Amino acid sequence: MSEREYLETDVVIVGAGNAAMSAAISASEQGARVLVLEKSPEKYKGGNSSHTHGSIRFAYDGVDDIKEIVPDLTEQELQTTDFGSYPDEQFFEDMCRLTDYRTDPELASLLTSESLETMKWLHSHKVRFVPIYGRQAFKIDGMFKFWGGMILESVGGGQGLVDILHKEAVEHGTKVLFNAMATELLHDDEGVYGVVFKHNGKTAEVHAKAVILASGGFHANKEMRTRYLGPGWDIAKTRGSRYNTGDGIRMALEIGAGSTGNWSGAHSVGGDMNVPDFTEGFQKLSYPFGIIVNAEGKRFVDEGADFRNYTYAKYGKKILEQPRQFAWQIFDQKVTGLLREEYKGRQVTKVKADTLEKLAEKLVGVDQQTFLKTVEEYNQAVREDIPFHPNVKDGRRTEGLEVEKTNWANTLDEGPFEAYQVTCGITFTYGGLKINTAAEVQDLLDHSIPGLFAAGELVGGLFYFNYPGGAGLMAGSVFGKIAGKNAAELMKRRQEQEAAMNN
Ligand SMILES: Cc1cc2nc3c(=O)[nH]c(=O)nc-3n(C[C@H](O)[C@H](O)[C@H](O)COP(=O)(O)OP(=O)(O)OC[C@H]3O[C@@H](n4cnc5c(N)ncnc54)[C@H](O)[C@@H]3O)c2cc1C
Repeated sequence: MSEREYLETDVVIVGAGNAAMSAAISASEQGARVLVLEKSPEKYKGGNSSHTHGSIRFAYDGVDDIKEIVPDLTEQELQTTDFGSYPDEQFFEDMCRLTDYRTDPELASLLTSESLETMKWLHSHKVRFVPIYGRQAFKIDGMFKFWGGMILESVGGGQGLVDILHKEAVEHGTKVLFNAMATELLHDDEGVYGVVFKHNGKTAEVHAKAVILASGGFHANKEMRTRYLGPGWDIAKTRGSRYNTGDGIRMALEIGAGSTGNWSGAHSVGGDMNVPDFTEGFQKLSYPFGIIVNAEGKRFVDEGADFRNYTYAKYGKKILEQPRQFAWQIFDQKVTGLLREEYKGRQVTKVKADTLEKLAEKLVGVDQQTFLKTVEEYNQAVREDIPFHPNVKDGRRTEGLEVEKTNWANTLDEGPFEAYQVTCGITFTYGGLKINTAAEVQDLLDHSIPGLFAAGELVGGLFYFNYPGGAGLMAGSVFGKIAGKNAAELMKRRQEQEAAMNN
């Protein structure tokens, strides 16, 4: 039997996505030696974080706050953009409203109140941001008006964010081991003191003063998905990182960590029916401007219930609940110019026809007669007296339908018509480990487990049923930064105790 390798450091972090690397920078700012263990090979570094657009939600009171984070905004951009404001109270209210008032109020409050400072901190660590023109603001009469509380994305998207954080962490002294899969937490009566991991297939141990778990949720683990989210979730498409298989959650539960949050809930979206798991550009998110029908030819959600980034994360599940787990999004020529970039790729399940009757024939799996009746009734119900405006909740609604559309309701009557077949794709899971506001993992009796911290997607309690777009990265940055700082402070206390005992 070969000898097991032993390493020693101050703070060990499991995972190398946004939460982990925020924690690494924060811990090293406090003087800690940091070792990051990442399960994936280097070329796939960054977990789900690297698959994002880098869109990030934070509270701001006006354009002056934006200028601190994006100092290179041009005069022309400033003059042609209405950034509005998104105060802390509104971000907090969105967290409550979207989660049916189940979000942990202490964690949600910390997330929203620390979000602006955390953006400034990321900027101080060389992360660059730009306005999300196009996806979060349409140009009308020469002006961009932002909506939905999300205005910035990192330069280079999620990969750009991850690359900068890795570079910055390494410059601060962090060491990253790739192909290093954590398998077990080392612990005794004093708490957690290290991690067992497999590095290139060989078992090794690292001992540390503190461990931070930031290894994501379990969306890429079909067995856990079916066990916790329920029947049917095994056949949802998997998005993002294939490495987020719930390892950190399992390791912590095994040593008595408490679980919390929406274990039967997940972020899931509608996306292309026929692409393999992990396909980039899967999602199809312009549905607020059209209608969605199921195999029976019936509508089943209010496509215009709210801005896209307040509904997209719950509509994947709605599609999974439909017969044969698919739906078609239908648009006419009045709105196809507003469709997002992801509708334009080659790997898109799309049909097109000049008339609704011809389109109906092409909608694979759909009851044609019911579909035509649905569109006819829908067209008759649209309040055409209310003007259409894509940048605001325009109130242009239907009246008298079983399932109403409450904004952006345009008649479907100008061919050629386009239809896109979609199914459910799972993005990340909501249930996870219980932490306090210091990012310390709690045990089953709500006591902190000494030496164990957690941040990012594997933390439970923030999101239930739904999710405001851009809050995932922000949660990782806010709690990663807190976890890193507190882990380093614990390291100092433990070092002082050891020094006192040795004197
Ligand atoms: C396609 C897509 C688009 C998204 N878009 C956005 C967006 O624009 N804005 C937004 O806010 N959120 C977005 N999200 C959600 C966002 O990605 C997550 O909420 C966030 O990135 C989670 O960060 P994290 O650091 O907790 O996890 P991750 O970034 O997933 O990092 C976890 C890391 O842990 C590693 N790991 C797992 N198990 C182990 C183990 N046993 N040992 C060692 N390492 C391990 C994984 O390989 C991974 O690198 C999107 C998600 C996807 C999939």
